[in-house]
Amino acid sequence: MVDPTETVVSASPDVLAGLDYWRTLDIKQQPTWTDTAAVAAASNELAKLPPLVFAGEVDQLRDRLAKAARGEAFLLQGGDCAETFAGATADQIRARVKTLLQMAVVLTYGASMPVVKMGRMAGQFAKPRSSDTETRGDVTLPAYRGDVVNGYDFTAESRTPDPARLVQGYHTAASTLNLVRAFTQGGFASLKEVHSWNQGFARNPANAMYEGLAKEIDRAIRFMEAAGADFDELKRVEFYTGHEGLLMDYERPLTRIDSRNGTPVATSAHFLWIGERTRDLDGAHVDYFSRIRNPIGVKLGPSTTTDDMERLIDKLDPDREPGRLTFITRMGAGKIRDALPPLLEHIKTLDATPLWVTDPMHGNGVTTPTGYKTRRFDDIVDEVKGFFESHRAAGTHPGGIHVELTGDDVTECLGGSEHIDEATLATRYESLCDPRLNHMQSLELAFLVAEELSA
Ligand code: PEP
Ligand code: MN
Repeated sequence: MVDPTETVVSASPDVLAGLDYWRTLDIKQQPTWTDTAAVAAASNELAKLPPLVFAGEVDQLRDRLAKAARGEAFLLQGGDCAETFAGATADQIRARVKTLLQMAVVLTYGASMPVVKMGRMAGQFAKPRSSDTETRGDVTLPAYRGDVVNGYDFTAESRTPDPARLVQGYHTAASTLNLVRAFTQGGFASLKEVHSWNQGFARNPANAMYEGLAKEIDRAIRFMEAAGADFDELKRVEFYTGHEGLLMDYERPLTRIDSRNGTPVATSAHFLWIGERTRDLDGAHVDYFSRIRNPIGVKLGPSTTTDDMERLIDKLDPDREPGRLTFITRMGAGKIRDALPPLLEHIKTLDATPLWVTDPMHGNGVTTPTGYKTRRFDDIVDEVKGFFESHRAAGTHPGGIHVELTGDDVTECLGGSEHIDEATLATRYESLCDPRLNHMQSLELAFLVAEELSA
């Protein structure tokens, strides 16, 4: 029965029509489906399934991000480059959440500010690719576009885009999110527990350089305890999800109308970002994401002009709503000190306050002579330092960090306190896409960022 006190606001016909306007525009990075009837059937099924996240949570995140944009909070976003269906196991999800929570405690201390925690999780299944096809020997097949589109195995059957994967993506996201919610609400995330894990990291002789900061955090926690802080209250943490808003056959059917106000909300995740390759001002993605209410991000590479930036703001944040728009810069360590400052100088002349986040991963890819796609830990740290330096010089807020990481002990990025070298990469390289920081490298990065934040 409908509650007579509840008013249900529907979307206006214009708003509804607008949600399909992207179909008339140039669109990049979508799969070439062969069975279009099956895509339509999968879309219909997705459109009937419950939302994965709720409009109220999305609004709460926008408030949190508004604080970060003002310099009163810091955003930590992290997770796989490409989540896989096979990787959605309890152990792997737990390890990733644990790593993010450990990083967040270190960052909270360093920043003396709340840290907004967000996984690149529960939906990071679709990937943009530099080529539509991949050739091995004399065989050419469609490129792997992420588990929600096709399989990684290099066979014609696996590489053919399969619309049934759209629905499987939803269910995998739902079970991942269910576990993430359980871990972050059920006591696993308690501050004392997370702190004791971090002490394990700091006791490792390889991490001796972080011992000072680790001891300071320990003293702070002892002080809180002595002063009577209620650690029971610190057992639950807010944790949000985000992924690249790329695959329109997944995002469109999961967009719903908020019955409280008639506005469209993407319910596949709290936060969606538009990638560097799909952020064309007149393209389908920018149009679509301009019409939904979620906080959204845009990746900005080193070639971004001040004009691009200004036009993205006009299109995606016309009302200059705090927390609505995040710029995730991914310039590369060698370029950030030249490419970011002009954008920051220009933003000061506009009436906009986007949240600035650094992605120190995507501008720092290298391929080893043996063919491994990797990144050097030192380049990642250098880009983070360039990000802080640029913001300090401009007087703007360095508001967060976006990293590709896993909680497992993989060997995908070079360096760090374990000194992973080129020969070691082969021992445990598991990513199907870009190389991720492993558990130790992630914590080490958090300690280094904490030092920047407290500088
Ligand atoms: C990514 O985040 O995995 C990605 C593809 O990034 P970008 O759009 O910055 O290249
Ligand atoms: Mn990536």
